[in-house]
Amino acid sequence: MIRFEDVSVTYDGAPEPTVRQVDFEVPEGELVLLVGPSGAGKSTILNAVSGLVPHFTGGTLRGRVTVAGRDTRTHKPRELADVVGTVGQDPLSHFVTDTVEDELAYGMESLGLPPQVMRRRVEETLDLLGLAALRHRPIATLSGGQQQRVAIGSVLTPHPSVLVLDEPTSALDPAAAEEVLAVLQRLVHDLGTTVLMAEHRLERVVQYADQVLLLPAPGAPPVLGAPAGTMAV
Ligand code: ADP
Ligand code: ADP
Repeated sequence: MIRFEDVSVTYDGAPEPTVRQVDFEVPEGELVLLVGPSGAGKSTILNAVSGLVPHFTGGTLRGRVTVAGRDTRTHKPRELADVVGTVGQDPLSHFVTDTVEDELAYGMESLGLPPQVMRRRVEETLDLLGLAALRHRPIATLSGGQQQRVAIGSVLTPHPSVLVLDEPTSALDPAAAEEVLAVLQRLVHDLGTTVLMAEHRLERVVQYADQVLLLPAPGAPPVLGAPAGTMAV
């Protein structure tokens, strides 16, 4: 579902590639963790999946990234929105509307869907994420875990086959983090969504993963391993 073939990314003015000759595949319907120290290139890899690298960040991408068969170099991020949903660390920076319901609908606005389909998808997503009781609430009044679920919901309404998340639990307390991880697990199991998630606290999330992609040190090639927590970083 996600394929990196000999991918290197060099930002403008950087002496060395930030990501060097990375090769991996994330099969459909798996939850894969991207783990590594700060600066290892986790965000760069996620942004290459959603097309932000290199379309919005500048720099050079060599090799090939394909998502659901689409080459991210020839598709702008906007043209990948129905395929890839992207969620960052800070849910507040994600929001463009005031209420939960409006935020879930917003992600579909450029898709040209009939209003009744949009309404149905908002209802489905409210139920799926346990947000129905909060639908009219201003997002600013919600807890961190609830806000992160709204951020995930807002990228789900276009029905993407792939979700990329950049340390989505890093700003959350343990209980809220569990809520968000349980939602991701449900997406993978019930809808067959493919999830690639960056995380630096492996112990919190490893039990949810099908595979772990290690970025051991800046620039070094990653290794795909079993999730049992057996591999050294
Ligand atoms: P991680 O997510 O693992 O912390 P990043 O992908 O954010 O790693 O960053 C890897 C390196 O690339 C860092 O040294 C960072 O400064 C650099 N970098 C990230 N984004 C840009 C950018 N848009 N332009 C230039 N350098 C960048
Ligand atoms: P529609 O366009 O009528 O909403 P789709 O063919 O897009 O129908 O969706 C088919 C089914 O996919 C729906 O019944 C819905 O339950 C399910 N679905 C809901 N959310 C997602 C999602 N994020 N990704 C894939 N399928 C989803």
